[in-house]
Amino acid sequence: MNNVRLTWLGHSCFEVLSKDRLLIDPFLDNNPAATVRSTQVEPDFIAVTHGHFDHLGDTVRIARRTGCRVACIHELSQYLRSRNVLTEGMNIGGSITLGDIALTMTDACHSSSIDEAGHSFDGGKAAGFIIRVGDVCIYHAGDTGLFRDMQMIGDLYKPDVAIVPIGGRYTMDAYDAALAVSMLRPKVAIPMHYNTYDRISQDPSIFTSYVKKASGINVIILKVNDSIEL
Ligand code: ZN
Repeated sequence: MNNVRLTWLGHSCFEVLSKDRLLIDPFLDNNPAATVRSTQVEPDFIAVTHGHFDHLGDTVRIARRTGCRVACIHELSQYLRSRNVLTEGMNIGGSITLGDIALTMTDACHSSSIDEAGHSFDGGKAAGFIIRVGDVCIYHAGDTGLFRDMQMIGDLYKPDVAIVPIGGRYTMDAYDAALAVSMLRPKVAIPMHYNTYDRISQDPSIFTSYVKKASGINVIILKVNDSIEL
């Protein structure tokens, strides 16, 4: 037990709580799956996987109110800085330490842009994160298709928890995500990025049965606002 609490706030938004509080992809106010609002979170740090609205979400609003720093890829950090947000720019393969949390940015097979008031800003590249607190390691895949280097992410970081998108259309579906879990070999797999909208509707129990067949790894299907202790 390392006293790390992992909470799903809906879609791809998770909170990692230890001594410090990290919020990942805080899409809350316009998220039909979320009940927590951007005014109700008090993160010490935010990590954003890419610029799309359902991931960047309420980052600017929350970071301005709380003064927290935002870890994200260089291009996205440039945009956020222009919006008076404190940033920790980084890039694929790089690591930083924020309080008692170590973040490593991993590859993701996806696009990124920031669309605002009819303008589109360069979002750099989409990413995932390895999040380490003490000896607990969590992999948040961000939005991604299946890619072979997930095997390497599994070999290198040996995540305890792998959080993977299963909604299809914009990311892996349940079948591909089960293959991803086989490559990552975590102790526990958690599905995300499904059922927020009709376009990514998915029965998560199908993911569980695919994972059971492919690798036998334990799947936890969280309900929104559910937590697990690690
Ligand atoms: Zn996306």
